[in-house]
Formats: sequence, structure tokens, C-alpha cells
Amino acid sequence: MKNIAVLGCCGSIGRQALEVIEYLGTGYRACALASGSNAHLLAEQARRFKPACIVIADESKYNQLKALLPDYKGEISAGCEAVCELASNQQNDLVLGAIGGIAGLLPVISALKANRQVALANKETLVAAGELVMEMATQIGKPILPVDSEHSAIFQCLQAGKNNLEKIILTASGGALRDFSKEQITNVTPKQALAHPNWNMGAKITVDSATLFNKGLEVIEAHHLFNIDYENIEVVIHPQSIIHSAIAYSDGAVLAQLGLPDMKTPIQYAFTYPERTANKLPRLDLAQLGQMSFSAPDLDRFPALELAYRAGKMGGTAPAAINAANEVLVSAFLQEKIKLHRLPEIIGQVLARHANLTNPNLSDILEADAWAREEALGGI
Ligand code: MG
Repeated sequence: MKNIAVLGCCGSIGRQALEVIEYLGTGYRACALASGSNAHLLAEQARRFKPACIVIADESKYNQLKALLPDYKGEISAGCEAVCELASNQQNDLVLGAIGGIAGLLPVISALKANRQVALANKETLVAAGELVMEMATQIGKPILPVDSEHSAIFQCLQAGKNNLEKIILTASGGALRDFSKEQITNVTPKQALAHPNWNMGAKITVDSATLFNKGLEVIEAHHLFNIDYENIEVVIHPQSIIHSAIAYSDGAVLAQLGLPDMKTPIQYAFTYPERTANKLPRLDLAQLGQMSFSAPDLDRFPALELAYRAGKMGGTAPAAINAANEVLVSAFLQEKIKLHRLPEIIGQVLARHANLTNPNLSDILEADAWAREEALGGI
């Protein structure tokens, strides 16, 4: 029996992870669930999956959650510390980190500290604290299992071996604004930015896809996960999202992982790794697909990608700073307090003013995060 703790169980990845656990059936159990503030959905999931414990991060929702579950036999608790405690429970064979944003960092660190294997959907964790987190995973001898579709694709390709790896090719759908002109991007509404052509995801990551900042975060994520130089990570726009990413070897051979864009595939691979298990998800039909296309990203229309490369190469606390700035700016954009094209502009200013600290510890990272939030808000 594989006991899986799902952190962020009410989010897009969390909900799909529970569907995967359900269809995998025997041998997989959702042993613990942690949600941010959605008491109703968490209660429904607790009734359905009967986990040993559930946590709601928002303490003001504790009484509501308790009242919704009069017959629940497991443990109910609340607060961010309780989420970390749940993540570190020795009963967890695998901890799925699917809390959005920097809020996902501390629970993942708790899980690793407690010697638990982590499957990671939360890229901000690696962007902000990649060196720290990867070192902890190495120390406990349990590799981080990527759930981000591109990184799962690379991880799957790398089962062929890492010797003579020349580069990583990260594919990007191009997001909702792929074919928008610079002027159109200036006047884009949250609704337009949220209309992702291929992937059904949460609001924050969908806006990040629209600015290509998401791909920038993924470049930093790939650098840490696969220990590869930024010079050897290439981004290519691939509107169909069929090739989820590829790797190239020094003999010129390229291995790619293909499939329909469905997050349940990478989630399942992380859960069943190193095995594969049959499922009934829709299949890719290449003849029906007909063709695929590719192009280089346009850094003039989407400058956020270049900013992420720059911060990644600087290392230290710079990635944490741009990530934090982006988080508050995306939220301001969704509340229509700021126009989309100003996001990379302000993130660039925050990065230029950041006093970068190399080899940061966790509190340095959290300080850089808090500083960048203030700076970015001041720039609006
Ligand atoms: Mg991705």
C-alpha cells in the first residue's frame, strides 16, 4: 500500500491527484489531505477518501470544517504548522506538494526533513529554494519526483540515462496570448489571460503561462531538478502541447515524451514510479493530430522569460525575489489593479534593486521573498 499525503488537495493538481488515486484503486491511498481554505470541498474529500488526518491552513475555517464532518474518525487540525506536521508524518510514503506559490515551500521542507519522498507540482519551491531542497532530497536518497508536465517528460526521457546529455528542450504552449501583438497584450483583461488554449489549470499559473513567466520558472526548476546549466536549457513554443518536453544527447539524438495534455498522466507517473500502470485516459492519435508546429519564443512580447533566465543565472536569492514579485503582481492583475505588460517591467525593477545573497539559507530566502513583495507592491 502506498500512502500518499496530498498537500493542496482542493487545487487543480490536488483534485486530479485524488482522481488518479481513485482510479489506481488497490495499492494507493490518500492518507492525509491538506487544503488552504476550502472547508466544503475538503470535507467532501474526507468523506470520500477517509484519510487518517486532514488539515485546513486557514484557522478561521476550523470550526466550519469540524461541523461539516460530525462522523469523521480521523484527526482534524488547522494552521500552517499543522500542514507541515501532516507533511512530515511517518505514515506518508509519498508527499505530493501541490500547494500554489511560495506557501508550498515549508511543508515540502518538513516532508524532506522527516525523510519522506516528495512528488513536486509546486515549482515555486524549487525556484525559491532549489539548492536547499535538492540537497535535502539527495541527503535522504529519495529523488524529487517531478509532476510539472515538462519536467515529468524530461524525467521520463532521462530514464534512458544522463550520460552525454547535451541539452534540455522545454516546450511551451505559448499561453493564451501567444498570437497577441504587443499592443493587444497591453490591454489584455484577466478573462483573456485566463483562457488557456490547452491546459486546464489554476488562475495564477494560467496568468504565468500568458506572460511566459511560467516557462521562466520552469527553466529554473529544470536547472535544479536535473542539475543542468542554463546555457543548456532551451525553450521552444509548441502550440499543440503534445511534446511535453525533450532531451538531446551529444550524438544528436533527441528523445521526447508525447501525450495528450492531461495532468493526470504526470501525476500518475509520479505515484507509480518506477513502474507504469495502465489507465483509461484518452490516447494520443498521431494520424488524427496530423501535424505539430514549433517556433522560437518572442522575448520582445514576452520579456518575463528572459528575466527568469537572468535571475536563474544570478542564483542566490534572485529567483526567490522575482518569484515573490510575480506572485503579488499576478494577484494585482487578477484584481484589475495593474495591466499585464507592467508585470515584467516591475519584476525587472525589483531584480535590479535586489541585493543578491549567494548560498542563502531558508530565512535568507524568506526574507528576500518578503522584501520583493513589498518592492513589487510599491511599484504598482
Ligand atoms: Mg508546466
